[in-house]
Amino acid sequence: MSDVTESIFSRIIQRELPADILYEDDVCIVINDIAPQAPVHMLVVPKKPIPRLVDADTDDQILLGHLMLVAGDMARKFGVDEAFRLVVNNGADAGQTFFHLHLHVLAKAKDTAGFSESDITN
Ligand code: 5GP
Repeated sequence: MSDVTESIFSRIIQRELPADILYEDDVCIVINDIAPQAPVHMLVVPKKPIPRLVDADTDDQILLGHLMLVAGDMARKFGVDEAFRLVVNNGADAGQTFFHLHLHVLAKAKDTAGFSESDITN
């Protein structure tokens, strides 16, 4: 686990680094991924810096549910609520590079046909 990568989402939340901030509330922030793997690729990031999903505990139950609801709301806002993927990479061997929990919301752009696994690489 790297302290450098761990701090990047926190630094975006603190406005110390730039990002396309699409939504923010007391619990989380939603940003555009800097290297999108699909036409719509947002990251839902809790303000609490939980490193990995498996590091969350029962105290985080409401927070985790909130992240899911925000992901759905953002999909609706972007007009992709009929077809999107929600991805959480847990651990380096699963592709996690930033050790600050985040949900990837991945979708084709609105008004396009449904997508397959090959459309989205993340
Ligand atoms: P992970 O691989 O940890 O599941 O996802 C980390 C994600 O953060 C990647 O999809 C990567 O493109 C994205 N990312 C890396 N650096 C930045 C950055 O500086 N700003 C934003 N908005 N996304 C980033």
